[in-house]
Amino acid sequence: MRRHERILELIPQGYRTVKALADYFNVSLMTVYRDVRSMEKKGLLVRKHGMLLLKSEVSEEEVASSQGCDFCSKAIDKRLEVVLRLVSGKVLRACCPHCAFMLIKRLEGSEILSCMTWDFVRLNPINFFSARYVINSEAIPCCTPSVIAFFSEQDAFKFQKGFGGQVMGFEEALSEVPRLMTIPVKVNLSGL
Ligand SMILES: [Zn+2]
Ligand SMILES: [Zn+2]
Repeated sequence: MRRHERILELIPQGYRTVKALADYFNVSLMTVYRDVRSMEKKGLLVRKHGMLLLKSEVSEEEVASSQGCDFCSKAIDKRLEVVLRLVSGKVLRACCPHCAFMLIKRLEGSEILSCMTWDFVRLNPINFFSARYVINSEAIPCCTPSVIAFFSEQDAFKFQKGFGGQVMGFEEALSEVPRLMTIPVKVNLSGL
């Protein structure tokens, strides 16, 4: 249909709501709504927070979000990456478990659908919630205090033997990592 083609041209020009398109074509909201629905079903466009996006724009947006850590903005090394999927459909990425704990703390009530990362020595995907963590060791592959994830408790203790730090589970690490970040640094004011 001719109007469908025009809609695909108009969206990138800023006509991103059903209302804007209805005004443009001078037709009812219902008419445009039906167009949008059928175009959505064909995979031509996507609705996000009430805005209309072309399929190509959505993938661009996803690429943009994968470019840096959602907590510290650092470039992400795939071997340390943590991917958080929220119930809302949003995907957050952290450069390492350290930033993932900071993100989870900041999310508070927001529901997390799933969270995965990589085992530091075995390099296979693991569930972030059931992993073991070595916190604040001498090995600093990314952010400090370093947080390194392992699938097995045994691997975590082996690592701790070599590099120090503390071994803990998800709940404990969730309160410990932000706490370590807020320990006040002693400032010498005597010279002032
Ligand atoms: Zn980060
Ligand atoms: Zn990091």
